[in-house]
Amino acid sequence: MGKVKLFLVLAIFAAVVGVFLFIFPFGSKTIKIVNLNTVLEPAADEVENSSDNTAEISQEVQTPDLKKDFTEINNTEENKKEKINTTDKQENNDKLKITGKYVFWGYEKAEGRSIDTIIIHSSYNALGGDAYDVDKLVKEYKDYGVAPHYLIDRKGNIYKLVDEKNIAYHAGESQTPDGRSNVNNFSIGIELMNTKEDKFTDAQYNSLNKLLKDLKDKYEIKYVLGHNQIAPGRKDDPWNFNPLQITN
Ligand SMILES: [Zn+2]
Repeated sequence: MGKVKLFLVLAIFAAVVGVFLFIFPFGSKTIKIVNLNTVLEPAADEVENSSDNTAEISQEVQTPDLKKDFTEINNTEENKKEKINTTDKQENNDKLKITGKYVFWGYEKAEGRSIDTIIIHSSYNALGGDAYDVDKLVKEYKDYGVAPHYLIDRKGNIYKLVDEKNIAYHAGESQTPDGRSNVNNFSIGIELMNTKEDKFTDAQYNSLNKLLKDLKDKYEIKYVLGHNQIAPGRKDDPWNFNPLQITN
């Protein structure tokens, strides 16, 4: 009887286990598949409850920047700040720098003259040697008893030879389009180093624009003209000058 009882107990146990396995054979696997699907498109409450999913999602929030076009990337707050800093630096580098190189000839002292015209010239050292030697060119001005207020060398360095308030001898016999002669009296002369063959350098145009802006801020400027425009037939400088490069 004891053996039969044991057999029955084992048989019932096996039947219960068998029924259990029959009812839930791949139950857990099925749930896992559902979970994988929800990872791809998680419900809101599942995202909140799963730290793994949250990590994945926050990463996704950062990467879409790569898909944005450059305009959008440029306009993010962070990049805007960076841009402003860069602009500040450029402005600092772009500040007008003038070196004093005053002469004692080629001008007459004046007080309270009104300035409304700027005359652009070009010249080079014709005394021999380097055509763009600043000192030799200034010596040449001395020989002729002339001087501009400013001289810009090939590298864009700006030299001040005569104070703006004084009348520099740079224009000679001349007339503005509105019929005024003796242009020296109401003008500022700017010489840029250049030969008749060469073009002006970008550095020269850059410096000239900065200087023009400064002068226009100080004075009510009516004309910015080439020497050739106030003394046609007599003067043909500034040679190879491109007026389109004047931005100020
Ligand atoms: Zn000239």
